[in-house]
Amino acid sequence: MYRTTTCGALRSNDIGSVVTLSGWVQKTRDKGFMIWVDLRDRYGITQLIFDEDRTPKEIMESAKNLGREYVIQVTGKVIERASKNPSIPTGDIEILVTELIVLNQAKTPPFTIENETDGGEDLRMKYRYLDIRRNPIKENLIFRHKVTLEVRKYLSYEGFIEVETPYLIKSTPEGARDFVVPSRMNAGQFYALPQSPQTFKQLLMVGGMDKYFQIVKCFRDEDLRADRQPEFTQIDCEMAFVEQEDVLNTFEGLTKHLLKEIKGVAVEKFPRMTYNEAMQRYGNDKPDIRFGMEFGELNDVAQHKNFNVFNNAELVVGIAVPGGNNYSRKEIDKLINWVKRPQIGALGMVYVRCNEDGSYKSSVDKFYNQEDLAKWAEKTGANTGDLICVLSGEKDKVRAQLSALRMELAERLGLRNPNVFAPLWVVDFPLLEWDEETQRYHAMHHPFTSPKPEQIPLLKTNPGAVKANAYDLVLNGNEIGGGSIRIHDKQTQAMMFDYLGFTPEEAKEQFGFLMNAFEYGAPPHGGIAFGLDRLVAILGGQETIRDFIAFPKNNSGRDVMIDAPAKIDQEQLKELHLSIEK
Ligand code: ASP
Repeated sequence: MYRTTTCGALRSNDIGSVVTLSGWVQKTRDKGFMIWVDLRDRYGITQLIFDEDRTPKEIMESAKNLGREYVIQVTGKVIERASKNPSIPTGDIEILVTELIVLNQAKTPPFTIENETDGGEDLRMKYRYLDIRRNPIKENLIFRHKVTLEVRKYLSYEGFIEVETPYLIKSTPEGARDFVVPSRMNAGQFYALPQSPQTFKQLLMVGGMDKYFQIVKCFRDEDLRADRQPEFTQIDCEMAFVEQEDVLNTFEGLTKHLLKEIKGVAVEKFPRMTYNEAMQRYGNDKPDIRFGMEFGELNDVAQHKNFNVFNNAELVVGIAVPGGNNYSRKEIDKLINWVKRPQIGALGMVYVRCNEDGSYKSSVDKFYNQEDLAKWAEKTGANTGDLICVLSGEKDKVRAQLSALRMELAERLGLRNPNVFAPLWVVDFPLLEWDEETQRYHAMHHPFTSPKPEQIPLLKTNPGAVKANAYDLVLNGNEIGGGSIRIHDKQTQAMMFDYLGFTPEEAKEQFGFLMNAFEYGAPPHGGIAFGLDRLVAILGGQETIRDFIAFPKNNSGRDVMIDAPAKIDQEQLKELHLSIEK
């Protein structure tokens, strides 16, 4: 038997018992006549003691040769520790070793296996199996397990069935490129890996499964932005015979359950906001509502006053930064440079200091008097002592810029407290989104999303204005889930494909299976999918999803540990009908 207990279990009431432990050598301290070893496993650390007077000689010798990360098995008696260590649960005891077996030796690890390691990100990724031995990563993986367990418990209790859907499929359009897999048995043909199980879960509804979920890998070949993974995990869900309200309530329930069970946080009813309102008040469809700094639109009070920058702008909009009047001129200049960086792209920033005596001092005093500025303060909700930051320009751009500034300032002001949880439903998303590049409308969510039925006629006259029964769940400024009520009849689906620029032949070729299914009694249905990696990271109070994935890819989409993607040999290429004939 390798072990009778683990390295995290023994306490002072075990003193006197004889135990066997197995684990890794965290560190050794050799005083010559006495050697201490910290033995580590998943459950904790237990101190071993080898003592010249009480330990057999050959064991003493072999203890001297133990290196970091050696795998050993020891047997010995639990004794009281002379100097106790209150910082670990096993700190009252140690093991007086009488038997020692070296199960495996180890090379010196390339970085320290400590909570704070000296290893850089790349090195840790390359030796991920060593990184997983460290507490922070290990705890994150255990935490992830707890979250998924609670998801499975809650949804199962609510009557959902977990069904697996295939990975070797045909394109599911979620707005990214597909990863494709060549087929050896079908020359020149390819599978696509699912961007999501969207069409399959809809087919499960046609199949009468009623309430489906799956914790499932999805694959999207996107240009990698920071903290995106080409393969990621969704909690994918679908329900039949539901309206939007039913879906929102069900998954509000799931989210509340997770916040309660995982974080011990009770949240009342989640607020809701339409997409338009979110854009207007926060310049963003996933606003962080843990703090205020809401947008104040200033067109009415800032235009037609000889300041042409504002007069020519589609939108003039500002936020009040709490206590911002404290900023020095230099700090404000830095802020202005911050918004002018190419990543943000503002042309400049107008500011107003709200002085303690109730007066205002702005960077555009030439054009605006105290009365004008008082109106700006009112619209942005600024108090004395605040700083109003104002941007102007084209509506969509300026909103994105000010939203970025709002988040940056909130971060600096410490308003994004990871222990506060502020969920929010954003509803009534537009059905379509104009794409400048292709000069056509795209589905904002995906092509299976139902327009609000009463707005279908608008599709002909003002397609951009049509709203969908589509919703996102936002948590602390992150989209953690998104879904919609689906189209469930063939005519509407065909019409949608038409609007999205598919010819009837293309639609049939790509989605004929779904349209056919709709002809065999498809129930009304809708659903949602949560991004599990991000959800877990946020619940864990962190932002980096990589730290919650056992074997993540780096920012270039590579697995640097196994070195993938990699070349394959000519033979294999040929078999897959991919070889280039010379
Ligand atoms: N399939 C969608 C997605 O991956 C989610 C949904 O509509 O349920 O975003």
